[in-house]
Amino acid sequence: GSIIEKVLQRKSLRMRNLQRSWQESPEGQRMLSFRKSLPAYKEKERLLAGIARNQVTVISGETGCGKTTQLPQYILESEIESGRGAFCSIICTQPRRISAMAVAERVATERGDQLGESVGYKVRLEGMKGKNTHLLFCTSGILLRRLLSDRNLNGITHVFVDEIHERGMNEDFLLIVLKDILPRRRDLRLILMSATLNAELFSNFFGGAPTVHIPGFTYPVRVHFLEDILEITGYKLTSFNQVDDYGQEKLWKTQRQLMSRKRKNQLTALVEDALSKERFENYSSRARDSLACWNSDCIGFNLIEAVLCHICRKERPGAVLVFMTGWDDISCLRDQLKAHPLLGDPNRVLLVTCHGSMATSEQKLIFERASPNIRKIVLATNMAEASITVNDIVFVVDCGKAKETTYDALNNTPCLLPSWISRASARQRRGRAGRVQPGECYHLYPRCVYDAFAEYQLPELLRTPLNSLCLQIKSLLLGTIGEFLSAALQPPEPLAVQNAVEFLKVIGALDEKENLTNLGRYLSMLPVDPKLGKMLVMGAVFRCLDPILTVVSGLSVRDPFLLPQDKKDLAGTAKSRFSAKDYSDHMALVRAYEGWKDAEREGSAYEYCWRNFLSAQTFQAIHSLRKQFNHILKDAGLLEGDLSTCNQLSHDQSLVRSIICSGLFPGIVSVVHREKSMSFKTMDDGQVLLYANSVNSRYHTIPYPWLVFSEKVKVNTVFIRDSTGVADSVLMLFGGNLVRGAAAGHLKMLDGYIDLFLEPSLADCYLKLKEELENLIQQ
Ligand code: ADP
Ligand code: MG
Repeated sequence: GSIIEKVLQRKSLRMRNLQRSWQESPEGQRMLSFRKSLPAYKEKERLLAGIARNQVTVISGETGCGKTTQLPQYILESEIESGRGAFCSIICTQPRRISAMAVAERVATERGDQLGESVGYKVRLEGMKGKNTHLLFCTSGILLRRLLSDRNLNGITHVFVDEIHERGMNEDFLLIVLKDILPRRRDLRLILMSATLNAELFSNFFGGAPTVHIPGFTYPVRVHFLEDILEITGYKLTSFNQVDDYGQEKLWKTQRQLMSRKRKNQLTALVEDALSKERFENYSSRARDSLACWNSDCIGFNLIEAVLCHICRKERPGAVLVFMTGWDDISCLRDQLKAHPLLGDPNRVLLVTCHGSMATSEQKLIFERASPNIRKIVLATNMAEASITVNDIVFVVDCGKAKETTYDALNNTPCLLPSWISRASARQRRGRAGRVQPGECYHLYPRCVYDAFAEYQLPELLRTPLNSLCLQIKSLLLGTIGEFLSAALQPPEPLAVQNAVEFLKVIGALDEKENLTNLGRYLSMLPVDPKLGKMLVMGAVFRCLDPILTVVSGLSVRDPFLLPQDKKDLAGTAKSRFSAKDYSDHMALVRAYEGWKDAEREGSAYEYCWRNFLSAQTFQAIHSLRKQFNHILKDAGLLEGDLSTCNQLSHDQSLVRSIICSGLFPGIVSVVHREKSMSFKTMDDGQVLLYANSVNSRYHTIPYPWLVFSEKVKVNTVFIRDSTGVADSVLMLFGGNLVRGAAAGHLKMLDGYIDLFLEPSLADCYLKLKEELENLIQQ
């Protein structure tokens, strides 16, 4: 060890020299004086001493006080300064990839370093780190993945888990695993960072770990609820039955899905109650009328526009931060605002967006200051709540919603839908306005609705399907799934765990005894949903990779087929042109993508998309995701031979459909024809409807007994989105254990077929098997 030791010591000295020369340079000095102005700096020595003394430390502090960018950096700097730089390895997790990348870049800049040198990042499918990287920002998912191959985190000296107050699933999961590692790694330091003050919960989880609070200063923020906003802006809310503009109707629709009925009734009752009370006598009759039409479902873009106009016309200078629910809404609102005479005028307004899927160049705009007489308006998701700090914000507009995965264990249906935020989130959003001077916050909902919000949001572990998580527990050899999860901060319902285990058994990732199968092992290596992972594995094994890459990428990004409210018919017809009467949205996607690629090559992608109601941006995203999935498969050792080998059978449409079925199963409904009508039944006899944009919704009959689907969404009734018609034989071959179990008598020969098919040579048997099976069924 002594030679290695010597090398590291020499490297440490180099690191110290580098650090010192940067800190002494004029630019380094300037950076240092900015960093010293952050509230975290005052606590620096106390924090360093605390972390050195205790294995676990919980740190809380206002957003923007310097937790993420400063604390890991303090450790790095002090290690380097003490000549031990090369011996330390610090990891800091972020819940979102975009913040991991943004923060790493920021810290590298603060250190006068190239990204990927002393500071790097790693997120799913992407990274910038090198042999000199000693501070790594990564998503919590990446650290979990690392634990797969390195169960003690050997070589890591410090782990920061950031934004734990969000109670993301990966963070909660990490905490269980890390708690398990600590006794085995006495030298490892764990630091938990949180924005709001519920530090005791985490401290208790780690047996009373010390907590440190970084006091921060914020200016007072004046709060306006909907009542006041209607008064101030003179805006009249339309009844949501009459809404005509795209944004309102769309938001209305999604928001219908969002609340449990109970909560919704409660909120609606509150509004009605409030309306009847005398306190509303004080408002002008106009505001009262508007409020009477107000419904907890209806928050329109027009209202946001009215508030923004008010701020631009009447208020003092200062940037505006608008909290929206997601990328879709942000881009719709942006388009609407762009068309506005005042808000769309680039000489007066700088419109910036901030969301999870934005490019790095866009990120930079967020931090840029607008020139003096231009007002900056940032449209953001709840990412701007705590992970990303925009400095010059004076006004906050809060729609009161955030996209949240909800999961109904009883119906086993997951949905990613906008829902009401918690009071803690609302306070957090409000706080964003008071960082540089006294601010104003416009909450686009009545005060009584705010009062009805939950205090904190439910932890993600309790509101999402646990499929991926359970698979990871198994592959990390963490014991029985149920037992492991019962050690969580707030353990999930047993029914949710049972559903996940059942699902993994049905798709063949776990065997009857809950052991990982070969397929399961592959799936745990792929950083995608097990369902999509299985489709990829099967696509690779059956040598029809290309179309499957497109399908999986499309399902991971979003639907490239657009459905403008006023041109639904035209858009539907355009889409059906891609379906070639084969009853498959997924195949339509494959063809549309192929068409886009050709058009792209000829430089006519724009016209192609315009003509066919397609989103060029989505195709770009699909295109790059395809490449990334390809890499993942290669890394997992699933791609042998060259491209043409992988695609030997790509032209075989019936095979491609079968592979789609293998991935989407058990997402399946039966097609029931009765007289002139057709309906769709789930396995447990529930009714579903087809989404309006599905090619299958255009037919009166479908010549397949089954449809596999990629997504089930609950509105009033349950809708299924993209679907593909499937024959009996295909379902039996590719439908997973459930169906094969039912048909066991006939299908003895196929026992354990997934394991067999993982050997590529057997792919050739597929057509023959299928033929035999079809004969069997016909007999
Ligand atoms: P916390 O994690 O406590 O919320 P951060 O460490 O993320 O705070 O940010 C501390 C400060 O650093 C912020 O208030 C902001 O002023 C500044 N900052 C962070 N990222 C950037 C960036 N990319 N560009 C400019 N300033 C930044
Ligand atoms: Mg932070």
